[in-house]
Amino acid sequence: MNRVCASCGWAGLPIREVCPNCDGTAWLENQQAVGIVRAVTRVHRALGSTFEPAQVLALVELDSGGWVIGTGSDPEVGARVIVGPNQVLTPAGRL
Ligand SMILES: [Zn+2]
Repeated sequence: MNRVCASCGWAGLPIREVCPNCDGTAWLENQQAVGIVRAVTRVHRALGSTFEPAQVLALVELDSGGWVIGTGSDPEVGARVIVGPNQVLTPAGRL
């Protein structure tokens, strides 16, 4: 999903080799992150493929910084979600 700096806890995207906050180079892999859905689109067709049902893609602004595109069953703009492995979204409920 993303990385968290082992020295200072900074997390964000894109993934970096050197922490922009402390110049650390040791990272912990973060398997999930929480964020807010900012946009949703439904893809019905792509080059050489059709999707039935449509593939739902959501642009998520992560609380830890950065943006990621994920997929879920029916994310809504403004909803809090957990972005898990393979960018699968699940509702986060009220945090
Ligand atoms: Zn750091």
